[in-house]
Amino acid sequence: MPRDIITLACTECKERNYTGTKNKKLGAGRLEVKKYCPREQKHTLHREIK
Ligand SMILES: [Zn+2]
Repeated sequence: MPRDIITLACTECKERNYTGTKNKKLGAGRLEVKKYCPREQKHTLHREIK
């Protein structure tokens, strides 16, 4: 079975900055996490996209 790969995109500039596997402990729904955006050079909210 393939892992559940997700992509995290910056909610401000829409840049796709991170990929990873979904942590089941976070539960259902769309993952949102604050991460560093290299394009804007600051921390922004990143959201899981398909
Ligand atoms: Zn950004």
